[in-house]
Amino acid sequence: MTYVVTDACIRCKYMDCVEVCPVDCFYEGENMLVINPNECIDCGVCEPECPAEAILPDTESGLEKWLELNRTYSEQWPNITQKGDAPADADAHKGESDKFDKYFSAEPGKGS
Ligand code: SF4
Ligand code: SF4
Repeated sequence: MTYVVTDACIRCKYMDCVEVCPVDCFYEGENMLVINPNECIDCGVCEPECPAEAILPDTESGLEKWLELNRTYSEQWPNITQKGDAPADADAHKGESDKFDKYFSAEPGKGS
């Protein structure tokens, strides 16, 4: 089992999650974060910290696509352990639908 980040994170990146993860298993893309499923210890402390409700346990149904995305990009993007500044328009995209199709970027973030 692991926790996964869904597309609700795209363009939000509040990054409250990275502050609480005890094993630093978040990775940063250009406009979202992902969790490395091999490093996540399933502690669950990040889930309630996410203001966008983007983090879910993979025991919930219908998350296969997001688990695969987390697995793939956590191997390509840099590790992030410190909270940075969220984009200025983050709140405007909170709760928006179909964010993956509209905005997903495979480009890496800066990491920290
Ligand atoms: S707190 Fe939630 S929306 Fe923000 S970066 Fe973490 S997973 Fe993404
Ligand atoms: S469940 Fe725990 S170990 Fe996994 S990403 Fe969240 S805080 Fe990190």
